[in-house]
Amino acid sequence: MANPVTFHLPGDLDSFLQDVAQMYGGFSYSDMIKFYPTKEQKSQLRELYEQMCDADESERPSLAAKVAVVVNPDVICKGCGWHLDYGCQPEVSMEAVKCPNCNAIIDQTGKVLSKEVS
Ligand SMILES: [Zn+2]
Repeated sequence: MANPVTFHLPGDLDSFLQDVAQMYGGFSYSDMIKFYPTKEQKSQLRELYEQMCDADESERPSLAAKVAVVVNPDVICKGCGWHLDYGCQPEVSMEAVKCPNCNAIIDQTGKVLSKEVS
């Protein structure tokens, strides 16, 4: 039985996330410690947990990738591939931030909305 990484996640989700982090990556234990799930995120994770239990070996990596997006909402700029912490970037407009690397304006999915602001 794994020791819990966090004190605020339910034990089953905690150990599920540890397994995913260890086997598939996409987020780390320190991301888990920073991760305080909303009710909605918790039910998303539980759903993914159940899907993962039923899934074939070949389907698991894509499920794990979905788990990683829930836990670690870091955004990759599609303009330059830069990995940024969306929440830490100043918003330049509604739901858009500037990539610190290439100055493109991107949305929450990393899609480039416009190349550069003056
Ligand atoms: Zn960029």
